[in-house]
Amino acid sequence: MAEETLIAVEHLFRYYGMHRAVHDISFNVSRGEVLGFLGPNGAGKTTTMQIISGALALSMGRVMVGGIDILDAPKKAKAYIGYLPEHPPLYRELTVDEYLRYCARLHGINRQAIPRALNSCKQRCGLDGAGDRLIDNLSKGYQQRVGIAQAIIHAPAVVILDEPTIGLDPIQIREIRNLIRELGSDHSVILSTHVLPEVQAVCDRVLIIQQGRLVLNDRLDNLKWNIRGNYLRVAFRNPPNITELNKIPGIKQIDQLDGTRFRIQHDINANVPEAIAVMAVESYWGLSELAPESHSLEETFIRLTCGEDLETDGFVIEAPA
Ligand code: ATP
Repeated sequence: MAEETLIAVEHLFRYYGMHRAVHDISFNVSRGEVLGFLGPNGAGKTTTMQIISGALALSMGRVMVGGIDILDAPKKAKAYIGYLPEHPPLYRELTVDEYLRYCARLHGINRQAIPRALNSCKQRCGLDGAGDRLIDNLSKGYQQRVGIAQAIIHAPAVVILDEPTIGLDPIQIREIRNLIRELGSDHSVILSTHVLPEVQAVCDRVLIIQQGRLVLNDRLDNLKWNIRGNYLRVAFRNPPNITELNKIPGIKQIDQLDGTRFRIQHDINANVPEAIAVMAVESYWGLSELAPESHSLEETFIRLTCGEDLETDGFVIEAPA
């Protein structure tokens, strides 16, 4: 079945005066997808999310939400979106119920439907029993839950969360992460964060933005694979010498890591892992490890946002040209 695109961002630009904060960004978000939005401070994440949520005007480009151009029918487009800004707009002197009722009315939910909408979002955010509490008296983690509850009260198709776990303790972080994971099962989520393990824990796809430009847009499972082609990590109990290994067709480069372990770069189209396994058995090399080598999201992030060569375990990942 074809994936349904809920958000389409096309050649987006945003200027603040002469400063170009967002530079020609394009990406899509599909139904049910959790998208991690990463980038160093000032990269343009909040600006992009504010534009998608209809809180900020774009300078050039197009944003389609649920097939609607956000400039043509902003109200209709916004109905698809729930937004938790970096600083949640909470009225601290209100109780949780008073505040959520107010948000429900702002979202245009009719009066009869409000109690059900309130109960549903409180239940999803773990706020059952907190309805009469003053927001000001809640812990930061619970205030964040209220912020998320106001973002989902109108059952939007897309939820945009700007750094939702900032300033929370590890237990609260875990709870909010679980909530995000759960939201991902029936909403699309755009999640901005500086916490890379958070992206690895909850996201399907990752975008990295650097100085307003998109430098990466890939599925997380693709990122586990190699950056410069295919690499294998191989170990033998009775290792051959490099010349012998090099006879295997499709091998491009071999680095010997220690007495028994090698890193092998190979042609993606040749079946090198199988050839190594066959040769190792025939030649009694005692194959003890044969695994694709992957790089962490952190390495990818630093490589793409610092533009520096990164030395990892004797292995240099090339910076982009
Ligand atoms: P952070 O991770 O620190 O929240 P960010 O990736 O969300 O950063 P933005 O807040 O979108 O980045 O900012 C992008 C750039 O635009 C920055 O250089 C910032 O200083 C600038 N900027 C943001 N808002 C304004 C504004 N209202 N007026 C002028 N410049 C702005």
